[in-house]
Amino acid sequence: MTERQPLPAAAEPPRRCAECSRIKEEYAEATRAGDLSRATDLTVLMGRHLRRAHP
Ligand SMILES: [Zn+2]
Repeated sequence: MTERQPLPAAAEPPRRCAECSRIKEEYAEATRAGDLSRATDLTVLMGRHLRRAHP
C-alpha cells in the first residue's frame, strides 16, 4: 500500500447540505477537544438528519 492518496469524491457522503457541514464541523471540534459525549450526540444527530433530510 502507498501512503496517502487523495480521496475521490465518492469517499464523501453522497449528499450534503449546510446542516451536514455544520454537524460535521462540530463533530470534528468535539473530537479535537476530546469531548466524547458531545461527539456521540453529534453522531446520533447526523444519523437522524441524514434519514430526515436525505432519505
Ligand atoms: Zn444534510
